[in-house]
Amino acid sequence: MVVNIKDLAVKLDSSVEEITKVLNELDFGYDKENLQVDDDIAELIEDELGTTKSDVDVVAGKVEESLEREIVKSQRKKTAGKDSNKNQSKAKDVATLPTKVDKLEIGDVISVKELAEKTGVNAARIIGELMKNGIIANINQQLDIETATVIMAEFGVELKRMNTTGTTDDFIEQNLSAIAGDDDVADLITRPPIITVMGHVDHGKTKLLDTIRSANVVDGESGGITQHIGAYQVEKNGKLITFLDTPGHEAFTEMRSRGAKVTDIAILVVSAAEGVKPTTIEAINHAKEAGVPIIVAVNKIDLPAANPDKVKAELAEYGLQPEEWGGDTIMVSVSALTGEGIDTLLDMILLVAEVQNLKANPSRKAVGTVIETHLDPGFGPVATVIINTGTLNIGDTVVVGDAYGKIKVMMNHAKKKYKNAPPSTPVLIAGLSKSPQTGDILQVLEDEKTARDYALHVATFRNDQRITSATTMVDLAQKIKTGEMQVLKVILKTDTKGSFEAIKQSLEKVHHDEVMIKIIHSGVGNIKESDIAMASASDAILLGFHVEIPQQLEKSIERYGVIVKNYKIIYDLIEDTKKLLSGLLTPEIVVVELGKAEVRQVFLTKKKEMIVGLKLTNGILQKGCKVRVLRKGEVVGEGRIITLQRIDKQVDEMKAENECGIKYTGSIPVEEGDILEAYKTEERQKTL
Ligand code: GDP
Repeated sequence: MVVNIKDLAVKLDSSVEEITKVLNELDFGYDKENLQVDDDIAELIEDELGTTKSDVDVVAGKVEESLEREIVKSQRKKTAGKDSNKNQSKAKDVATLPTKVDKLEIGDVISVKELAEKTGVNAARIIGELMKNGIIANINQQLDIETATVIMAEFGVELKRMNTTGTTDDFIEQNLSAIAGDDDVADLITRPPIITVMGHVDHGKTKLLDTIRSANVVDGESGGITQHIGAYQVEKNGKLITFLDTPGHEAFTEMRSRGAKVTDIAILVVSAAEGVKPTTIEAINHAKEAGVPIIVAVNKIDLPAANPDKVKAELAEYGLQPEEWGGDTIMVSVSALTGEGIDTLLDMILLVAEVQNLKANPSRKAVGTVIETHLDPGFGPVATVIINTGTLNIGDTVVVGDAYGKIKVMMNHAKKKYKNAPPSTPVLIAGLSKSPQTGDILQVLEDEKTARDYALHVATFRNDQRITSATTMVDLAQKIKTGEMQVLKVILKTDTKGSFEAIKQSLEKVHHDEVMIKIIHSGVGNIKESDIAMASASDAILLGFHVEIPQQLEKSIERYGVIVKNYKIIYDLIEDTKKLLSGLLTPEIVVVELGKAEVRQVFLTKKKEMIVGLKLTNGILQKGCKVRVLRKGEVVGEGRIITLQRIDKQVDEMKAENECGIKYTGSIPVEEGDILEAYKTEERQKTL
């Protein structure tokens, strides 16, 4: 549909000249001969001139659109006259712009202001271009790189992502491989392997780590070690090996559940005197599930009761066939006490590492993983980080989870200071804004502002995650339905070995054309923290039978967002699993009431949206939530809060007793005095 500009001028109490001037300035096409314009552009002009004419007062200034109009208006005044005749071709238009650069490398997000400063393109023109693309933005608006690329192409500026930077999304998701990116093969060099020691309690893990450290440590100022920094490096045959100094599969799986990968090889310590124990089996399952190769250290061979062959036979039962018996698992007999066999063990580690062909690019900005953190009285928040790729240098600006900072100090476990840390090096770093979490990814960024932005994104995301507890069962059912999940992984904890066998047999009989059930770990006994971490790390469900879920684990279950179900009847367990597989677990929709707000002022009304000032009387409001519109106590319509703004800042949530501006859309326009009842709907699983 078209609108006559003359009619529009009358409607807006404006003039044809003023309207065509705005059309030209914003580079909107129109029929000059017949003075006609498309209705959607007419609407934009209406918004534009409507607001210009009406009183853009202080309150409205709190609302983003008004703010952005102020900017457009003031910029327009500045540029008016200079380029009054710009309704010809876009090419000519672009040619007259004071573009300083035609190429720019940026991170994941950039503000309009920064984009303008860095490219030399007037901010108002960027805002105008964004408007043409249906994006209402102010000068401080953060644009994602995709949007910015499209917009800036209009001005002949080509944007490129900095190739050594992961996106904030990758960062939030702790997607290490995406952050580390693909390096040119020519830049890659061999990096030291990273080792985790696992095994049953008292089988000698700590002793083994101590013995290796004291005999082979790099920069051996061992006397100076006072603080546990969680990892060290040793040298063997001129090659380095990195050991994680927190033994056990618990820490390993906890790290994995957070998406971090900092183990190349697992050393499974088994006492030659005691043989395979429940934790030995657990450790095997955890390493296998992670796809990490295992080297077995058959320890305590100095003891008279030692029987390495018996241990090897037991291990073979759990799928670890010794090489000497034709299998593919390297097993080394050692004594952590006397040091016997340790050299061979280190040689074997180097051998396996060589086969793994571990590479990294030392000449890029560093990416690392936090393995330990604490608050140091002298240095403040410190973290031990293992460098996954790149080289970390003193003075680098980093983001680490929701912390950021500049590397002030780097040192190894013996407090030797480092100026730079190449791949696989563990270093304690200081200079962070706060303590990050174990498993957090470190990334070097170009400047502190970007690092702070990343950290803020992560903090907001973590906060949101706490608010919206996981609906993972629904996700799982959905994944099965869509064929995305072909293996339903199960961790099974039972009261006795007998009930485990019975359930295992029944589960094996559950047939599904596309989905296979795989028990990745099982055990007799109550559900433990490490079971939860494993379920999370492996996308598995955790099923218990006649066991207990200790109350203190509830927080972990929520944090990890895993599905844990405990049964008293085998039939129920099997039936639920069947239902899950057949996609019968359709979710129930539950309404969650959020809060109430009163409409204090209507600032702006567009065809589909309104900008409204609210006073929140109780509860909370959330960006994107639904609202019932109440007028004189009656529900008169339904709507949604598109954006939520406090003063001049977009927020995701607002608490009671606050005033705010919202962008509203709904079945009915709101009026002053209306009450908005905010709510959201959640999917909840009926059974299982
Ligand atoms: P972890 O719980 O697996 O870390 O076991 P530890 O390293 O604390 O060792 C448990 C006990 O076994 C300690 O008293 C060690 O001194 C002892 N131990 C460790 N390795 C050996 C070994 O090779 N031979 C002997 N005889 N004792 C050992």
